[in-house]
Amino acid sequence: MSCDALMPLAQPLLEMCRSMGHWALGIGNWALGIVILLLLLCSFAPLLLCPFAPLPHLPHSPHSPNSMPTNTWNRHHILSLADFTTTEYDTVLQTAASFQEVLSRRTKKVPTLQGQVVANLFFESSTRTRSSFELAAKRLSADTLNFAAASSSMTKGETILDTAKTYLAMGTDIMVVRHREAGVPNAIAAEMDRLGVRVSILNAGDGQHEHPSQALLDLFTICTLINPASPRLELLKGKKIAIVGDILHSRVARSNIWSLIASGAEVHLAAPPTLLPKLFAEYISQESGVGSQELLPHSPTPQLFLHWQLEPALQNADFVMTLRLQKERMTAHLLPSLREYHQLFGITRTKLQFCKPNVKVLHPGPVNRGVEISSELMDDPEFSLIQSQVSSGVAVRMALLYLLGSGKAYS
Ligand code: ASP
Ligand code: ASP
Repeated sequence: MSCDALMPLAQPLLEMCRSMGHWALGIGNWALGIVILLLLLCSFAPLLLCPFAPLPHLPHSPHSPNSMPTNTWNRHHILSLADFTTTEYDTVLQTAASFQEVLSRRTKKVPTLQGQVVANLFFESSTRTRSSFELAAKRLSADTLNFAAASSSMTKGETILDTAKTYLAMGTDIMVVRHREAGVPNAIAAEMDRLGVRVSILNAGDGQHEHPSQALLDLFTICTLINPASPRLELLKGKKIAIVGDILHSRVARSNIWSLIASGAEVHLAAPPTLLPKLFAEYISQESGVGSQELLPHSPTPQLFLHWQLEPALQNADFVMTLRLQKERMTAHLLPSLREYHQLFGITRTKLQFCKPNVKVLHPGPVNRGVEISSELMDDPEFSLIQSQVSSGVAVRMALLYLLGSGKAYS
C-alpha cells in the first residue's frame, strides 16, 4: 500500500492527537493557575485576616503579644514613668521582645495597626526619636503624619491645642508629642480627655521633664543583654547603675531614675554641683508623691545616691549611662570649660577601670564626641551599647504604639 493511500486513514488520527494536545495544554494552564493562586493566598492571608487577629505574623512564643495579656494594659496615655508599675514595665519589655523578633525577619512588618493614624507632633527638633517612632508606626502598618513646627501654621500663630485638634479631626488615633516645655503632652492629653475622644498621647520628650520611650529602650537594651530570651524588670535588681552628666537638664535621666529605681537597681548620679543640685533628691521625692523617708515608689529598698565626683559612682558599676550636655537648655554659665568637664566627668576607657570588668556604657544620643564620652569609647563595641540602643528603640516604640493602639481597637 502506498503512503498516499494511507493518508485518509491517518487524517482523523492526527486530528485526534492535536485536540488531545490542546486539551492537555489547557489542563496544564489551569493547574499552573491554581498553584499560583494558592501561593498568593498563602502570602496575603495574614493581611486579609488582620482586622480579626491582633498579630497574625507573630510566633506563639511565651513573649508573643498573641499570648500577652494585653487586657492588663489599662494606660491610655504614656506621659511619665513616675507611676509605672512592674507589670507595665514587664508588659512593655516582653512586647518589645516580640517585635524585636519581627524586626529580625526578612519582612519586617506586621499589619497590627492597619487603618490607624499615628501623628508625630514634634514641636522641638529631633533626629532619632522622630525617625524611630515613624519607622515603628510604619512597621505596624499604621498611616503616619509628620508635623514639624518650623514649617507649620504655628508660624502663623496657631496654638498647640488647636494644632492637636486639627490632627484629631483628621482621625488621628495616637499623637506622639515632643515639646521644649515640660508639661505640653500632659496638657494635650487633658484636653483630649475633656473632649471625651479616644486619642492616646505619647510623650516623646517634654523640656527637662521626661522622655519615657528613651528610658524604656534603655531598660530593654540592658535587660536583653542580661537575658535576651526573657527581658524582665527584676533582672536589674542589685545591679549598680551610674548616670553621669547633665542631670539637671536631662529628661532622659528623670525617666531613667523611675524605671531603674522600680527595678531594685542601685542608682548613682554623678555630676558637678551646678548640674546636680542637692535639691534634686527632694524633687524626686516630691514628684513621686511620697515622703523623703520612703524616697521612691515601686521599690522595697529605694536606693538613689548623689555624687559630685565621678569615681564613687563608677566604683563597681555594671552600667554607665552618659548624658549629653544640654547646652540649649543652659541659661547660666554652669561649667568652667568643656575640656575641664571632660577631664573630670567625661567617660573614657581609662576611667572604666573603676567599674566591673564587663561594664557597658550607654548614651541616648546625640553625642558630643570627646565631651561626655571619648570618641574611642563610643565606637568600641566591647563597651558601647549606643548602636543597640538605637535598634532597640524601634522595637520598644512598636510595643508602645501597639499597647496604646490595640487597647483602642480590641477593647
Ligand atoms: N534629641 C535627639 C535627636 O534629636 C534624640 C531624640 O530625639 O530623642 O536625635
Ligand atoms: N535625645 C535625648 C533627648 O531628646 C537626649 C539628648 O537630646 O541629649 O532628651
